Amino acid sequence: MAVIGIDLGTTNSLAAYWKDGRAELIRDENGAVLLPSVVGYVEDEGFVVGEAAKERLLTHAGDTAASFKCFMGTAREYTLGGKTCTPMELSAMVLERIRKNAAFYLQEEIEEAVITVPAYFNDRQRSDTKKAAQIAGLKVERLINEPSAAALACRMQCGEEDQTLLVFDFGGGTLDLSYVECFDNVIEIIAVAGDNHLGGDDIDRAVVQYFCRENGLEEEGLSVGEQAAVRKLAEQSKCGLSTQSEVRMEVELGGRLCRAVLNEDILFEICMPLFAKIKQLFIHILEDADSRISQIDDLVMVGGSSKLQVVKRFLTELLGKEPVVLGDTDRVVAMGAGAYAGIRQRGEEIRDMLLTDVCPFTLGIGVTNRNHRDKNILSPMIERNATLPMSVRNRFVTTGDYQKEISVKIYQGEEYYADDNIFLGEVRIDVVPKPAGQAWIEVQFTYDINGILHVAVENELAQQKQILLANQTLSEAELERYRKEMEQIMLPPIQKPENQRMLARFIEYFENSVGERRERVAEMIDQITAGLCSGRKKEIRNAEEMALHWLEQMEREEDIQEILLFDGALKGDWLE
Ligand code: AMP
Repeated sequence: MAVIGIDLGTTNSLAAYWKDGRAELIRDENGAVLLPSVVGYVEDEGFVVGEAAKERLLTHAGDTAASFKCFMGTAREYTLGGKTCTPMELSAMVLERIRKNAAFYLQEEIEEAVITVPAYFNDRQRSDTKKAAQIAGLKVERLINEPSAAALACRMQCGEEDQTLLVFDFGGGTLDLSYVECFDNVIEIIAVAGDNHLGGDDIDRAVVQYFCRENGLEEEGLSVGEQAAVRKLAEQSKCGLSTQSEVRMEVELGGRLCRAVLNEDILFEICMPLFAKIKQLFIHILEDADSRISQIDDLVMVGGSSKLQVVKRFLTELLGKEPVVLGDTDRVVAMGAGAYAGIRQRGEEIRDMLLTDVCPFTLGIGVTNRNHRDKNILSPMIERNATLPMSVRNRFVTTGDYQKEISVKIYQGEEYYADDNIFLGEVRIDVVPKPAGQAWIEVQFTYDINGILHVAVENELAQQKQILLANQTLSEAELERYRKEMEQIMLPPIQKPENQRMLARFIEYFENSVGERRERVAEMIDQITAGLCSGRKKEIRNAEEMALHWLEQMEREEDIQEILLFDGALKGDWLE
């Protein structure tokens, strides 16, 4: 049973495994390594994942979901083909496809996976990622932060000496920065910073605005279809600039041909507001790491948006030297995840590697605000960027006279007012009734490397209450329900009952035939099976049509054979 590493991306997902001292990417049956993280519903076929779904994004937008990773851990729902799906369920479909691809590629069952998540994913988002893996039939012992995976990949590829890295992971919807120190076999994440809503999509939006401006158009004035067409053109033109110095944009809108020219200088100019935000994140992480830009040995560029020359240009100006690009920026995180799979499998060359991580957000409890009684404030227990595992114990006193109970509300986030942060849970405990400030409780937060937060609260009488938070998994019953649903909607064409019945008929013909006819039937079974397993819509449909046609043909042949055998006596008469 193999362990694989998965980069479950916003735009594309990839998997890798550890082989002969290095991480290798896993390919699907067509040789592709990138699986678009897109799910669609196709009438009469059910749910499709990957390229087949991506092709339908424009034509069947209502029945196709993309970029759902951005909404992981939220209440957002998608309705595809009448079925309501959460981002967790959609991610489960992507993971299921990855598991199957990997099992096919490696020719063994995949038992465990290491999945990467953005460093800024909160506990709900992490829990939902784990649950999605559970639904997809994968055991996930550990989620690792994407930039940590990138640092590991970088270290495996080019690091022997002590070095300080800054991993710049710029994807479709997110930007993650990690300040990493590497020495001997240790990769220590010192600080992380990022923005969950800053990525290539924002650059596309800036290009759309530029295109509209150039053509005297208001984006809101365009129809939904026109907006989608301009957005697509914007992304294509942006990507075109990673290989060409100038791109001509052209699209017909409302019967008018609209045009604009996009080149590096224009793109640099229109990305300025985004670069200003990125610069702020650099300041933030350098402060948190108590460092300066000159102390960074290498800045490693990761993620699809790192392919943009303008981003490289901006970073070169900021850094005073060229950043490092490790091959294909799309693949670095997956390679790191594959290397981590090697650590889990205790691979010879990598088992002693130690990857430490940090808590990317502050964890704390709400305490009374003396000046504003109904607006509690956050009292941090574990501060962001604390190295994991971490345990902290603090004492809190009552604020009300003869108070009988204290409610300890647990939050995650950086906001001043408790309720502006993410509420994680609550523990209630009795206290000895005394004048305000005299009764006390002690609160202990323990946050481990797997992102599990254990909160224990103890009163003066040594009575204890505790709660285990975060990274919850599905109960057996929930899992069973999700698995069943998934099996129904994601049945591969070869396993659909009607196709199974059809193949059984061919097998019957095979068993009842001899010689040339038997060979012909074997050939038919082979072709139909190949078509049904191809994963390509057109070939699946061809195989189904071909099978029906051959069945009819063989039934006819059988009838003729019977008529010949019984000297022209009618089959029906004879049966009676
Ligand atoms: P990721 O989330 O890492 O897969 O990155 C996806 C983002 O990378 C999307 O915004 C893409 O438009 C962008 N991207 C992909 N390829 C290129 C390219 N060749 N040049 C510029 N941006 C790209």
